[in-house]
Amino acid sequence: MGSGRRSVGRLCILGYHACVTYQVLARSWRPQRFADLIGQDAVVKTLQNALTGGTLGHAYLFSGLRGVGKTTVARLLAKAVNCAEGPTAEPCDACVACREIAAGSSLDVVELDGASNRGIDDVRELRELLRYRPSRDRYRVIIIDEVHMLTREAFNALLKSLEEPPPYILFIFATTEQHKVPATILSRCQQLEFRPVSTRLITAHLAAIAEQESFGLTPEAATAVARAAEGSVRDALSLIDQLRAFSGDRIDGPAVAEVLGMPRAEQVARLLELLAGGEAADALSLLREELAAGHDAVVLYHEVGHALRRMLHLRLDPELEPELANDNRERLTELAGKLDNTALVRMLGLWVEQEPLVRDGANRELGLEVACLRLARWPVVRDLEATLTGQPPSPAAGGGGGGRRRTTSGSAAAGDSRADSPHPEGSAGRLLSEALWEDRPRIASAVDSAEVVCDDGVVRLVLPADRTGLADYARTPEAMSVLNGTVERVIPDCNGVVIEVEGESGDGNGPLPLSQATEDEGVRLVQRVLGGEVVAVRPDRREAER
Ligand SMILES: [Zn+2]
Repeated sequence: MGSGRRSVGRLCILGYHACVTYQVLARSWRPQRFADLIGQDAVVKTLQNALTGGTLGHAYLFSGLRGVGKTTVARLLAKAVNCAEGPTAEPCDACVACREIAAGSSLDVVELDGASNRGIDDVRELRELLRYRPSRDRYRVIIIDEVHMLTREAFNALLKSLEEPPPYILFIFATTEQHKVPATILSRCQQLEFRPVSTRLITAHLAAIAEQESFGLTPEAATAVARAAEGSVRDALSLIDQLRAFSGDRIDGPAVAEVLGMPRAEQVARLLELLAGGEAADALSLLREELAAGHDAVVLYHEVGHALRRMLHLRLDPELEPELANDNRERLTELAGKLDNTALVRMLGLWVEQEPLVRDGANRELGLEVACLRLARWPVVRDLEATLTGQPPSPAAGGGGGGRRRTTSGSAAAGDSRADSPHPEGSAGRLLSEALWEDRPRIASAVDSAEVVCDDGVVRLVLPADRTGLADYARTPEAMSVLNGTVERVIPDCNGVVIEVEGESGDGNGPLPLSQATEDEGVRLVQRVLGGEVVAVRPDRREAER
């Protein structure tokens, strides 16, 4: 489980102080009507259809995370079938049956906890209970929470009741671990799966409660609490209880950050700036400071991911981040301005891939460090990709770092040569170069480096002997296809391209001298990313096969 979860557990100790003086929110805000329940629309709709259509089953199994509303819905269903106005899709919450069920005092609604009623004796008693008709209401409702905890004997005894259920019995089982419930039980139940509640819904719920209960809760704090609750409404409400005990009736972002052990937003932004600029050493030292300050590695990991996501949102549409506090908004907007959408999507993708390393690894801090190192290498990887594909790289943040790299990458280095393109105005070389420049600068650069001759319907690019790297690149199937297409488009009477290297005619397909290979900028970049040294040069396998 994530550390957000662990933080919640740890802070429960604090929460007890709050419980003494007032009823905890999870209890006072337990929904008493289906309409008040959040995040389980599919489940509610299924049950309400069954209630109004007279197709209610005799046994239900509710599965899903804790704190998402399983027991609450079980009680609501008990009310719906036993309400004086029922069976109804929405219990009145006013009749004796409804009020007794809400208070837990109804004789016809039996609630058991699978964890503490595990034995066969309990099940025997239960079966006794099933023999009798309900004392007053329509149904005798048996709710068993954490049903997967029952023993095998208990399950077997239960099975008999499930096979031939009296018509006045309604079983409702709830479990967080459906896979531990025997198949024989599962097959006799209608199964409903409760989803984790979305952060957006929990955030709105918390804001509504804060307004009703008249305590201060900033939008940023509400979102942070909702996120930490990881889909559990109950966890979110317990956290609010703890925060009120901690900081009174004024809950804001920094208070949540402190209680949850979350890093400060500006530190997260700074870390991202360093990572985006490829400044690994500084990023690691900042990371160590944050970890030394007691921030949990998993929480830090998630905060960096959320900040990346927010930066992408801010670029796409600032309205996507309505609850962001102003100072944090400015910081992230500025940082996002230094990158582009493609870069952010790539970085976010890279970061998400590292999650198992941080979450499941034996050493989470080490995992986070590796994740950071991988993200910090992304500008280099991007430059390598740019060199291999001939596309100009997208910008990197962090000013100096990215800029320095760009000037060494192939496409940018070629960037200055176009102004002094060697080909005369209107010549085949110039036409090709201009047509390719915008989208494929590296191929254009090959054209500019070559002597261009139109010969018998074919354009021959003859590159000097010291540009074999560029020639090899131009000969790749992908570059050749671009070149052929461009020639057909812009040079009349020609429909093909041949790449040649000076002095390489006839049997000249031999390997390049080692000294030239190590000078090639593409080779140098590959070496910088992957390490190693050039020990031999072999002809392209594809050429060798020709
Ligand atoms: Zn009622």
